[in-house]
Amino acid sequence: MVVNFQDSEIVAGWEDILSKDKYRLMFADIVASYPEKRSIYVQYEDIDAYNSDLAMYFLDNPDRCLAKGRDMVKASLPPTWDQRDAVNLRITNLPRDAKVEVRHLRAKHLGKLISVEGLVRKATAVKPRMTQALFRCARCGAEIWEGQTGVLMKEPLMCSNLDGSCNKQATHFELDAKSSVYVDTQKVEVQESPEGLRGGAQPERMTGFVEDDIAGIITAGNRITVNGIVRSAEKPDRDKSTVFEMFMDILSIEFEQHEYDEIQITEEDELEIISMSRDPRLFDNIVASISPTIHGMNEVKGAIALQLFGGCNKEMDDGTMIRGDMHVLLVGDPGVAKSQILRYMSTLSPRGIYASGKSASAAGLTAAAVKDEFGDGRWTLEAGALVLADKGLACIDELDKMTSQDRSSLHEAMESQRISVAKAGITATLQCRCSMLAAANPKYGRFEMGTSITNQIDLPPALMSRFDLIFVLTDKPNAKSDRDITAHILNVHRRGEARQIGEDAPLIAGIDIGKIKEETQNVKPVYERETLRKYVAYSKRMVPIMTAEAMGIIEENYLRIRAMGAGENDSVPITARQLEAFVRLSEASARMRLSRTVDADDATCAVNLVEYYLGKILAPDGGQWDIDNISSNFAKKDRDELKVILNIIRDFGSPEGISEEEIITHALSEGLSEEKTRKRLKMMIGDVTLYKPRDGLYKEVA
Ligand code: ADP
Ligand code: MG
Repeated sequence: MVVNFQDSEIVAGWEDILSKDKYRLMFADIVASYPEKRSIYVQYEDIDAYNSDLAMYFLDNPDRCLAKGRDMVKASLPPTWDQRDAVNLRITNLPRDAKVEVRHLRAKHLGKLISVEGLVRKATAVKPRMTQALFRCARCGAEIWEGQTGVLMKEPLMCSNLDGSCNKQATHFELDAKSSVYVDTQKVEVQESPEGLRGGAQPERMTGFVEDDIAGIITAGNRITVNGIVRSAEKPDRDKSTVFEMFMDILSIEFEQHEYDEIQITEEDELEIISMSRDPRLFDNIVASISPTIHGMNEVKGAIALQLFGGCNKEMDDGTMIRGDMHVLLVGDPGVAKSQILRYMSTLSPRGIYASGKSASAAGLTAAAVKDEFGDGRWTLEAGALVLADKGLACIDELDKMTSQDRSSLHEAMESQRISVAKAGITATLQCRCSMLAAANPKYGRFEMGTSITNQIDLPPALMSRFDLIFVLTDKPNAKSDRDITAHILNVHRRGEARQIGEDAPLIAGIDIGKIKEETQNVKPVYERETLRKYVAYSKRMVPIMTAEAMGIIEENYLRIRAMGAGENDSVPITARQLEAFVRLSEASARMRLSRTVDADDATCAVNLVEYYLGKILAPDGGQWDIDNISSNFAKKDRDELKVILNIIRDFGSPEGISEEEIITHALSEGLSEEKTRKRLKMMIGDVTLYKPRDGLYKEVA
């Protein structure tokens, strides 16, 4: 039932609420520290405690109630204090039923007080907006104040000076911009949190306006709850239209207090989490809960599982930060389920974001200051995927297709986990404390065997070295794995069909639905998504410390792998970056067990993973490890082959060039097989070291 309230009842309510001790203190504080503090924050629950019907009425009629409230605020301040008009009344902590998702905003919300949760996608620079314009009559000089609400300046219709010389006939007024009254404003765009999204839906956005003391406290990438009144505005630059845009007059902003606030963990959950952590099959169970419809790839899934838990962020005595977040790169042939895994992880990870390297938004992967119609010509800071994934997981598909601007800013983002934007008066540092799970395709479409793998990945070496783990996924026909994957994919589809057919559907001859479900159990995650999310969120409370044994294992293995490159091979096999990867991985392994210490097993787990990936990437044809594979574009062996061919072309080539057959003959005598030489020549044409002046002839590009 809707209860209607008289003005006097609303006033009485405010009087009662604002006379509470805590608000009296707030008033005194404002008078003492004005202008730093100039807002009274009223908790919604105080209104509710006074009268819950009034509190409900408030949500439906905020303008009326707030107007009365502002009068009461003014009356509660000392009458001698001349800034009484400048104090704002703000309401915070709206109840759960006042929460509306951006995608559910409808006409019925117009004029209502609601709260919206989300991520700040864009925020403009703070600019003054005129609220009271002072005009002077051009004839008699009388002062006329004109209240301003919209974007267009409203001029007085006539001179209000009754006995002025202009006789109210004046039509010309001069604006006194200096003496007019302004308020700081900021326009923001709030995007619904990815947590609320189901099934890859496009996130919806809402525009809001922030004024006065709360303007400028939000930047792109913040996770906030905004409380405010929904309004409508005619679309600008249109003929008079009956279709309006919605926006929010933001009354107050609440920042999330804790990480993973969006995941509630009850005491019951905690008990379940602790019992899960004691299961000896914990690691396998978690791996089996990651993209179970994808067959195999257990090393990749294990690595991603560890990434989900992450190492510990550390602040050192001198203030330097060491990141604990891990970055994982999957490079592989098309159709090996890279995108599938990324999409799955973005929904599994708390604060996961899925984006493609070739995304259309101006902010791209990092952030940008842009001048677009959103800011009405003002500069706007727009957050990209990595900023939106702050304290979460950024799943970036097709990383090799990213823009050149992203290429240059990604180094900083990945290593220092910050992005600085300095453009046109906007200087901001945005946080992107996220892990990155990226996927890329080989440069030539597919991996070609026989040449170094890094040579076939179109990513700058410096960027590659930022990844803790790089997995190479090749799609070679193989009788056994082909059969397994085929069976698995068919089972996935069969189970899907069985799930679609309801429990009480008529029986089908020769088909036993129950048996099918039974036989395809392995396609079901061991832990439900929600359970795993809670587990991960809970584990972040753990900060495990390395035991002496764990340190010993890491040290020994790091030095062993590093020593493999010494001697006749002059390249450095492994760098200190990999040492840090060892540490992060073993911390994550300990965290996964909710352990307070990093034990020998955790260290071994990390060593095995690093060895697995190094083995695949650095020695695809069983040769020796060579980290130069990553840190420069060519492995040492490749460089040597390259030199041999170039020398042949230089020594034996005529001004017209040299034929392929001749190169092969010379190369054979240098110990290079015909197949290798042909492949190498093809690649050298590809990266424009060589060109073909005539068919069959090769020449070096000068
Ligand atoms: P990519 O991004 O690597 O090009 P996709 O993620 O788009 O590949 O995967 C292509 C399709 O192949 C998906 O439908 C995926 O389910 C299927 N697929 C590929 N490998 C596997 C696998 N090992 N197990 C199950 N399905 C697979
Ligand atoms: Mg893909």
